[in-house]
Amino acid sequence: MKIKKFRSLSFKLTLWYIVILGGIITLAGIFQYQSFKDSLLDELDAKLLEIADETYETWYRKRGVSWEEAIKETTGRFPSYKPLIQLVKLQEEKGKKIEEVIHPTSIEKGSYLFDVRTYYRADRSDIDNLIFVTHNEEVLGAYPLRTILFPVRGPNIVQVGISLESTEIDLRRLLIIMILAGGGLLLLASLGGNFIIRKALKPVKSVVQTAKDISADDLSLRIESGQRQDEIGELVDTFNDMISRLEKSVKKIKQFSGDVSHELRTPLTIIRGEIEVLLRKERKIEEYQKTLKSTLEESAYLERIINDLLFLSRIEALEKKEFDKSVQLDEILLKVVESQELAAKKKNITLDIKKAKPTEIKGEEILLERMVANIIDNAIRYTHPKGKVEVSLDKKDGSSTILVQDTGIGIPEESLSLIFDRFYVVDKSRFKETGGLGLGLSIVKRVADCHGGVIEVKSEMNKGTSFLIHFPETQ
Ligand code: ADP
Repeated sequence: MKIKKFRSLSFKLTLWYIVILGGIITLAGIFQYQSFKDSLLDELDAKLLEIADETYETWYRKRGVSWEEAIKETTGRFPSYKPLIQLVKLQEEKGKKIEEVIHPTSIEKGSYLFDVRTYYRADRSDIDNLIFVTHNEEVLGAYPLRTILFPVRGPNIVQVGISLESTEIDLRRLLIIMILAGGGLLLLASLGGNFIIRKALKPVKSVVQTAKDISADDLSLRIESGQRQDEIGELVDTFNDMISRLEKSVKKIKQFSGDVSHELRTPLTIIRGEIEVLLRKERKIEEYQKTLKSTLEESAYLERIINDLLFLSRIEALEKKEFDKSVQLDEILLKVVESQELAAKKKNITLDIKKAKPTEIKGEEILLERMVANIIDNAIRYTHPKGKVEVSLDKKDGSSTILVQDTGIGIPEESLSLIFDRFYVVDKSRFKETGGLGLGLSIVKRVADCHGGVIEVKSEMNKGTSFLIHFPETQ
């Protein structure tokens, strides 16, 4: 599968990165812009107050100076602000109307600052409660005007206005700088982020490539983790472990199919050979009988292999949780021992049940019977005549344990970990006399596994072997 660029993880991560970073930069920008704007306005308002106060002071200090002169003088003192100053005289007794507006500056009377209601409010306010108003009226030119209403004796109001032109120009400049800087920062950060993300995801690509290159025929490939200690390193290690396990199981499967073919071919070759020899010439009836008996034995052996293989493949698919029926383990034990008594007697072996505590577990009777039968059958087969096989079922330390103990030939230490592998037999030369296929214990292990049982084997050469299967009592 080829991943489309916009669906790739690096693309998505970069996109998220840009969105989040863009959001943060925008928020920070808005905050900064707003606080800069507020501080400019605060500064301007302070200047307006200073000019209004100065106008009043000039008029008050130089008694005899007209308001017009005071306004002119003050205007001249703040040339860089080009303040527009006027005095609004209010008529108190006639319900506070505007009586006269003195504005010796260049503005036409009534062209600005002529909101009577605002004057009233200002009139009521004290010095701490001054009113600052921003006028956006078109007559004032392209830029708004910031004004202060400053009540003075009279009742009069000194009104001062300063154009917001330079403030707005400053703000616009700041906005452009912020957009350019923010955009540039975002671009650089995105490129850097994308580079880092790609670098971080590079091993994933190599995982993908290796996974593509791996086939059942060649599972020897591994991914270089480069000593990474991060999540990607963990992913690579996990992937490599998985390939190793896969390699092992494929090897096992190959070995198994090789073993199966071999096991099946041997008896077939014998049958064919014997029949071919028999058919070369006329034979006596006894010879025919002998060969037929031998081929019958071989085909019975073949049938056993096939049955065991079929049984194994059936239980291979079983899961532990699949059992919901309860079975009596003690009854199973008694039943199996009973069915094996004849075989033990034939070989002059004592087969005894020492203890069989009533035990109930969840499971399938046929499977458990087969498991116990295989172990007891082995114990009888690998014990010399006059030997002893003892079976018991006991409860101890929170688990129920089946024990099959024999006084047989024992299992060499190095074989203990292998006896549960399919077709594993300790001594191939013993094969014919004991008739072992090497499948019995694989079945035992599988049945125990899917019933939650744990197998333990203790053995001493020429002294005997004990097989213990522990089942948790909670079942
Ligand atoms: P087999 O059909 O050969 O008995 P199993 O899978 O049942 O196959 O057992 C594997 C091997 O383990 C046997 O070949 C045998 O060598 C060894 N083994 C199993 N049980 C015993 C036992 N009770 N005493 C000695 N050896 C045993």
